[in-house]
Amino acid sequence: MNKLKILYLEDSEDDINLVSWVLKNSNLDYELITVDTRADFEHYLSSETVDTILSDHTLYQFNSRDALKIFKEKQLDCPFILVTGTVSEEFAVEILKDGADDYVLKDRLQRLPLAIENALKKKENEKSKNKVNLENQLILQLLNNVSDEIYVMHSDTLNFTYTNQGAINNLGYSKEELLGMTPFDLKPNISHAQFREMVAPMVKREQETINFQTVHKRKDGSIYPIEVVLKYQDINGQTYFVATARDISERLATEHKLQRLNFELQNSNEELAKLASVASHDMREPLRMIKSFLDLLERKYGQDLDDKAKTYIHYAVDGAERLTALINDLLTYVRIDGNDSQIKNVDCNEVLNEVIELYGSVIEEKNAKIQSALLPTIRGKKIPIKLVFQNLINNALKYHAPEVKPEIKIKAKSLPDHWLFSISDNGIGIEKAYHEQIFHVFRRLHPKNEYGGSGMGLAIAKKIVEQHQGEIWVESEKGENSTFYFTINKTL
Ligand code: ADP
Repeated sequence: MNKLKILYLEDSEDDINLVSWVLKNSNLDYELITVDTRADFEHYLSSETVDTILSDHTLYQFNSRDALKIFKEKQLDCPFILVTGTVSEEFAVEILKDGADDYVLKDRLQRLPLAIENALKKKENEKSKNKVNLENQLILQLLNNVSDEIYVMHSDTLNFTYTNQGAINNLGYSKEELLGMTPFDLKPNISHAQFREMVAPMVKREQETINFQTVHKRKDGSIYPIEVVLKYQDINGQTYFVATARDISERLATEHKLQRLNFELQNSNEELAKLASVASHDMREPLRMIKSFLDLLERKYGQDLDDKAKTYIHYAVDGAERLTALINDLLTYVRIDGNDSQIKNVDCNEVLNEVIELYGSVIEEKNAKIQSALLPTIRGKKIPIKLVFQNLINNALKYHAPEVKPEIKIKAKSLPDHWLFSISDNGIGIEKAYHEQIFHVFRRLHPKNEYGGSGMGLAIAKKIVEQHQGEIWVESEKGENSTFYFTINKTL
């Protein structure tokens, strides 16, 4: 602790010596500075910090009253003690009222050290009390600034002992009205017995807080939904319930709206899928008819037709076949559903082997090379997962320059929450501008005569991957190979 800096306003040499002697013989660790004029007193207080002021009552052209005035003007928070000869009782009362902390008579100077200590203690207490008061005021202000309702209630009577401004604003009752109420005056849906049952785990100290939803009734009778957090708390040896209630009308309205929108979306999705499914299913029959009659026409009357007619028939058959493939892909796309019941362990090595077998003749014909690392067994739906591999490998076998033999590499990597698969090729690559678009339905970058296809393969793969809570993307540059990546959530 630093030395106590005591400023002593005194013009009598004898008194200074006397006070010095008394202080020296006390337990105080101090430094005594003496001043004897108003100017010095003021100057010292402006330039230095002081822990205690001692003041004589009458000095040359100056007195303790004026000194006290200066002390107060400067708003100093150290003790001010008058050290004086005999004074009247009225004067003593007055000077204490004016703000002095104590007075010590010169013929009882031995009391001075204790007077200083007591005054210092008193100031210290005042300071911490002021700090607590300030903190309390701030807390109360903060509690009043929140829009949530806050209540403190006695745990036995359940009478509110505190409510904040939020409660007053929301309910329309005045503070005085609320302080005469209990929660049951506000919560029409909760009875006393229900409340006691709800709070029992907290009272038995088995639970810290409880949360529940109910409604509040305003003074005007209107009702609004609230979410309550209730705490059981000891405050100065007495138990209270502290409740925070939040008006959740807006949140519930948004939730309901979202639910309704979701419901509508699901309905319209289902309807769309049904429509697409029925339409494409029903289109297949007339298509089959077109194709069979074209075949019949060619077989029966082929010899009577010239080359031009035969070419027309060929185009018509090709068109019908492409339309059939497109309808099949569209059907596949709309039938991919979010039903999780078929999620099982899927060995991706097995899936890949089945796909390679499926494309056996193409692989042979193109002299393609497919290399795969050991793939994991994942959680997922086998047939859709196979479709993802199938579409990506089909594209890797398809989109290459005529003179290039396709080389395809398949890898898998374990990430914290997902499996990451990659399928890379040595094909024609994809310009950056199309990296997103190619995953859209019917989006193709090439005319049919260059590379055949329906433009559905990547859209199908994307839909399946997303249903497995994963993502799909491509890294590629035009003319420079492509790597397709997709992830599958590990915890399906
Ligand atoms: P499709 O192959 O039937 O046209 P996809 O949806 O599978 O339809 O692919 C969309 C488009 O993306 C393709 O038309 C093609 O232009 C491009 N593409 C897909 N895979 C590759 C690939 N491995 N290399 C180059 N381009 C590709």
